Amino acid sequence: MFAEEAGKGVSDGYAVSPRAAAQRYNRVISRVEPVAEQFCRTQMAEKRPDYNCDVTIVVDTDMPERNAYQTTAPDGTPIIAFTVPMLMDARNDDEIAFVMGHEYGHHIATHIEKAEQQAVAGAIIMGSLMAVGQAYASSNNPYRYTGNDAQDLENAMAAGYMMGDRAFSQTYELESDVIATHLARAAGYDPVKGARFFARPEAARTETGKLSFWGTHPPDEKRLALVIQTNSEIDAKRGLQKR
Ligand SMILES: [Zn+2]
Repeated sequence: MFAEEAGKGVSDGYAVSPRAAAQRYNRVISRVEPVAEQFCRTQMAEKRPDYNCDVTIVVDTDMPERNAYQTTAPDGTPIIAFTVPMLMDARNDDEIAFVMGHEYGHHIATHIEKAEQQAVAGAIIMGSLMAVGQAYASSNNPYRYTGNDAQDLENAMAAGYMMGDRAFSQTYELESDVIATHLARAAGYDPVKGARFFARPEAARTETGKLSFWGTHPPDEKRLALVIQTNSEIDAKRGLQKR
């Protein structure tokens, strides 16, 4: 159905029309959301019984790039957002289901909380390294100009924040992919087919220099290999259960 629609009245090389993309989005949500919410509740039942597993899935109509992300609203509601180009560029339901499962993975594995803690630690470490360096430089040279020190320190803290934010990002991506594999399968999709969205040869940065979806979700071979392996493990377990 979507192969027929592809290219028909669709510009910029998108795979499907906005209408087909909206239908796909709703179709995938109706299958992935209940499975993901249940999985989240089971995972969190013991360690975080008050954890909010009721994720609101929205379309971000402002962002012009293909992207999907997990965030938290000011009132604490967990959110998964898809941009319109992302929905229009997916080649099949499995891709949207896998990406949705991946973003749920970030929420279920509490990656935002962990990244914030990590980022703060990174900022403190970089900040204290810089402060020690400044004090040492001043003690060696009493005439040293210290007017920029506060700004330098702030820059170091900001750099540290970013470093901390990135330090575990690959681990988080892989962890989310494993969760996505389970969720996509449980919702009746093919995770290996879906994960190929990540394997596209796309630039890591957009024309405006910002990190693209492929910049924040590096399409290395490890990712797809892990999805294939996880999927086979689930197959093996199912095989055992059938006996
Ligand atoms: Zn991710």
